[in-house]
Amino acid sequence: MPSYKNRPIVSELQDANSDKFQALRLQRFYLAQINYLITYVVIGVAWVTEQYDASAWMAITHVLLGLATQSVFLLLFKFGINLRFREPSLTNAQIIVAILLTTYFLAFAGILRGSLVMVYANILVFGIFQLSRRDLLLQAGLALVSFGSLIAIESYYSPTAPNITLSLVQWFILACFLGCLTMTGSYIRVLRERLQQRHSTLQAHQETLRGMMGQLQNLATTDGLTGLANRRYFIDETRRRMTLMRPGQLLGVALIDLDHFKRINDLYGHAAGDEVLQGFASLARESLRDGDLVARFGGEEFVILLSNTDLGALHQCLDRIRDNFANTQFTSLPEGVHCTLSAGLSLIQQEDDLEVCLNNADQALYLAKNSGRNRCEHHQRDNERIKPS
Ligand code: GH3
Ligand code: MG
Ligand code: MG
Repeated sequence: MPSYKNRPIVSELQDANSDKFQALRLQRFYLAQINYLITYVVIGVAWVTEQYDASAWMAITHVLLGLATQSVFLLLFKFGINLRFREPSLTNAQIIVAILLTTYFLAFAGILRGSLVMVYANILVFGIFQLSRRDLLLQAGLALVSFGSLIAIESYYSPTAPNITLSLVQWFILACFLGCLTMTGSYIRVLRERLQQRHSTLQAHQETLRGMMGQLQNLATTDGLTGLANRRYFIDETRRRMTLMRPGQLLGVALIDLDHFKRINDLYGHAAGDEVLQGFASLARESLRDGDLVARFGGEEFVILLSNTDLGALHQCLDRIRDNFANTQFTSLPEGVHCTLSAGLSLIQQEDDLEVCLNNADQALYLAKNSGRNRCEHHQRDNERIKPS
């Protein structure tokens, strides 16, 4: 049964995106409320200055209608009901309501109507970024039809109707400005789409670049044959770990060299030699703890770094790897032919120089080779410092 914990990450990202968009929608809604507030103030001023052509009740009805419709929108956003609609921003619906309320206001605006008619344009500005060209045109059409209907009804029914010619000129001016507005809106929309397209292309390029950087980083730090870290990575990583060491803490380093490896190549071929190198790499990886590090130092030489260790544990670990390796039967080698390794061990203290420690391990490796191979030897100074267990 799917639980919250194992929901796919994509779905969480979608949730985060949807929260972000919902917050943006609410922001736009609150911005629209500032416009409503200004309209209420204008109605109040018109009424106080006796320019409002109807009773106080009509003005109050307008404000109440505004508050009621906006409360409905607020609830739709707050409870996420808007997300069920094809257009979750509800821009079209909000604009339609605003156009109708403005027409209602203009019906009683008397002589102020001429200066208030541009409120329609102000409403349509809200749709510029959100609506398609078709929707913006339809909304402009609705504003013109509403205002036109108001003029027609007034001139037909009301004997006190304002001058019909003046009203028609107002309608014409409104039509011109709304035409301009929809054209500008379309232009802004095209620019926005182009910008979005460039943004997505840029993002895609960035992704590719990040992938390539990752691959390069991988190539620069990994050995191609064995998949182990390479010498450069080992040195950098060991230096980094040395900076994190606490006083008294010890790291263990082991330089490993496969014995008589040239013979393996000469007798059984280079491919057989490669298989042995890969076999050693996986054996070493499996034998180490998570915090330990193994790298190919070059050719048939490897290096191991043990964290938090002492000479006894370092010896034990390397002897175990040496034993396992000596007992491994590689498929590319004939039955009974085994490969061995020699290792030189050294300990690293906080204040040590890595070069010196690696040199010490190399000297111990030399000793192991000279003492008959297939053995681990440690650097003498380490012997004095800690006795192997
Ligand atoms: P010793 O016990 O003294 O280390 O003898 P050795 O033969 O292992 O040492 P030597 O340095 O003479 O030979 C190392 C050989 O490792 C020679 C080289 O061809 C082989 N070698 C180095 N890198 C690779 C590799 O990537 N693949 C294979 N197959 N062989 C490699
Ligand atoms: Mg060698
Ligand atoms: Mg060798």
